[in-house]
Amino acid sequence: MKLLNKLLLICFLAVLLPLPSPGSSTKTKIRSTLSSGHTYVYLQDVANYYGFCFSTTKERGTISNKYSRFVFNYDSRRGTFNGVQINYLYAPFLRGGQGFISEQDFRCLIDPLLRNKALYRHKMRLVVLDPGHGGNDKGASSWLYREKDLSLQLAKKIRTLLQKKGYTVLLTRESDFFISLEGRCAVANRKGADLFVSIHCNAAYDRSINGIETFTMPPAGAPSTASAKSDAGKALGNKYDKNNFRLAYEIHKSLVLKTGATDRGLKHARFYVLKNTSCPSVLVEAGFLSNSTEERSLGRKEYQDMIAQSIADGIVRYDKALK
Ligand SMILES: [Zn+2]
Repeated sequence: MKLLNKLLLICFLAVLLPLPSPGSSTKTKIRSTLSSGHTYVYLQDVANYYGFCFSTTKERGTISNKYSRFVFNYDSRRGTFNGVQINYLYAPFLRGGQGFISEQDFRCLIDPLLRNKALYRHKMRLVVLDPGHGGNDKGASSWLYREKDLSLQLAKKIRTLLQKKGYTVLLTRESDFFISLEGRCAVANRKGADLFVSIHCNAAYDRSINGIETFTMPPAGAPSTASAKSDAGKALGNKYDKNNFRLAYEIHKSLVLKTGATDRGLKHARFYVLKNTSCPSVLVEAGFLSNSTEERSLGRKEYQDMIAQSIADGIVRYDKALK
């Protein structure tokens, strides 16, 4: 495989991006290469495209300007954007002193974070909030709380905040009853939701694990964060790949900065509700009920208010990016 990679590396393909370089009328040349069947681009060229600086060590590459900074840890999918943990679709790598990232990461993750113009413009009227679980399905449970109750409390708080900002908000359930995953998506799709946010709490066997993670749909063809396997299929939830990531970033950033909780990262997963809603969608895991400290926080009114405010702020920031 190593020899094959080397051979493929020799086959440099110089491509011209269809978009002009931001702030310039000329086209920027982005060189690309193939590795393990995927197209990768030079980090140096990506940096040039945005007018950023590129620097590298053996362990990691960085592209940055005065306001923004991406860190790419070589041979790992974990990285950061402005200090917030994100997971790339494919691991960046270093070869011959040059850093490489996948072309899909460049187009679907980096570009929508740096350029509002990369986002698809859509109306932002109806937000559907989806409190996880309900009825017989309790979700995660702890000594003190049940996930189905906390997710509903949080969703109602977010609704109040968004309504004050002028949005129309619909909940997939208003009280403690069971609704199937299909039913949740049907509410969003039938009512013509412009945004879908599913609210959950986490649990793990290891009780020391704590923190917040935010999920969105992987772009068509790309692997989930928990898997290395690519997926060939294109789902309904792939209609807005770039918007999905920007929305998830705005919500996740807001959550980890405001709550000070452990940042477990922005992740990709083909969860049913993300795969089958026809609008930008995210799923928030607001904390671990299996961790005694976080469990107590999640039950506190002040902490719930903080989480609700963070999610509402993230949605408003996303909306502003569309303007
Ligand atoms: Zn859940």
